Amino acid sequence: MEKWIILLCIAVVSSMLAPMVQVDASGNFQDIGDSHRAAKEITYLTNKNIINGVSSTHFVPDREVTRGEAAAMIGRSLGLNGTKRNTSFKDVSAGNMASGYIMELVAKDVINGYGDGTFRPDVKLKRGEMAVLINRAYNLGGTNSSSAAKVLMDKGIAQGMSDGSFGTNITIIRSDFAVFLARTINADFRVQTGDTSIFKTTQYVNVGSSTLNMRSKPQIVNSPSNVISKLNHGQVVSVASYTGNWAYIKVNNLTGYVDKSYLSSSKPSAVLPAPPPAAGSDITVIIDPGHGDHDPGANGFGFQEKNVNLNIATHMKSYFDQTSIQTKMTRTGDAFLSLTERAQFAKKYNGDIFVSMHMNSFNHSANGQESYYYSTSATNPYVNQSKALSTYMLSRMQEAWPLVNRGVKKGNLAVLRENTVPATLVEMGFIDSEIDLKYFKSDTERKKMGRALFLATLDYYYHYEGRTDLAQYYSQVGASPSKRLH
Ligand SMILES: [Zn+2]
Repeated sequence: MEKWIILLCIAVVSSMLAPMVQVDASGNFQDIGDSHRAAKEITYLTNKNIINGVSSTHFVPDREVTRGEAAAMIGRSLGLNGTKRNTSFKDVSAGNMASGYIMELVAKDVINGYGDGTFRPDVKLKRGEMAVLINRAYNLGGTNSSSAAKVLMDKGIAQGMSDGSFGTNITIIRSDFAVFLARTINADFRVQTGDTSIFKTTQYVNVGSSTLNMRSKPQIVNSPSNVISKLNHGQVVSVASYTGNWAYIKVNNLTGYVDKSYLSSSKPSAVLPAPPPAAGSDITVIIDPGHGDHDPGANGFGFQEKNVNLNIATHMKSYFDQTSIQTKMTRTGDAFLSLTERAQFAKKYNGDIFVSMHMNSFNHSANGQESYYYSTSATNPYVNQSKALSTYMLSRMQEAWPLVNRGVKKGNLAVLRENTVPATLVEMGFIDSEIDLKYFKSDTERKKMGRALFLATLDYYYHYEGRTDLAQYYSQVGASPSKRLH
């Protein structure tokens, strides 16, 4: 009860403050310096009140844009009436910040909801969807994601990508959205198409003793089939633009894409001595297939959750078995353990992190994936670690099975709360969902999920714990580190 009162107070205070804070330039955003690649566009849109910071001091340029936020920004750019109102969508209340803009854009046929009566305002927007939205909002002519993307490229709104490499299915981040929107409404921001001077930002390759793959497309397809060059530490490249996590670059006379996390704006120091060979054996991952024995968990389509969990856990373990990272499973057969026994398992067996695996169910009427962490440090102190672990888990699960993303969530679950190490609980899909069924029913797909949970564990150690010595284990399975997410 008290908690709600405090939250309400914060909400009231911040909404009272918001109109009084004069954000008149991106220079006021501590995370957008003058040299930020989108600084001019963000300043332009901020001054027009089309786009806001996440707070008065931070723009958070790398945050993904949701459908609701996109509707609000496009609606403001068109000067539509954003007064909040009742909507025709069951998941957009009148109180939703974008409710007015959503209804205005629906009336103009710029944006639609889904067949089930939802709008899904919190779903992240993909670049292809953005292209269609901008085309419809500004009558540019494109009607589907590829024709809309082509229009944007032809007009110099989105430059530098050949038709197949627009990144249609990559989610769009706030800074990219700002750039595209500014170029749409003000031609002065557009780039001259076919102009090689678009490669104007100097960056340096920063890969230490490794090499950086330069690819023909901003995606890892059948690695290494689209690798066109390997760049060395310290090499100078010229960047034109970014697609998600990819930078479109030119080096010598070659153009292509590299993972932008391996570029730095200042010259990196000379190659560091090679890191020591992967130790790895100092890590023990506790794998917890949920349920067992007389507790089958959820069921659907003849599948029992306990069996699906165990099968995927076994696949996950088989990937670790190719590395020096140790694993310990809470159960390897159809056995029952109490939640407390599971939570204490890591302590008992000197585990370092804990991954509990589950399948969800809800009357055949929900689907998708989510991950959970416990957010109160009083019992399990590893809140930040658990959150990061859960974030990497969900991201890789989405890669493996592209189901609905239900988010990384706080959960007061015994196996997390009573744990003594960073802990996550993943709901890999809904066992009673016909949509999710096509994935979990297939052993190939279950193996893919086991691989995803393995990679997410590596991502956590690689990015959060700085264990770059584990990099070799990605290449062993034809993968590379995820983008940094926490
Ligand atoms: Zn379960």
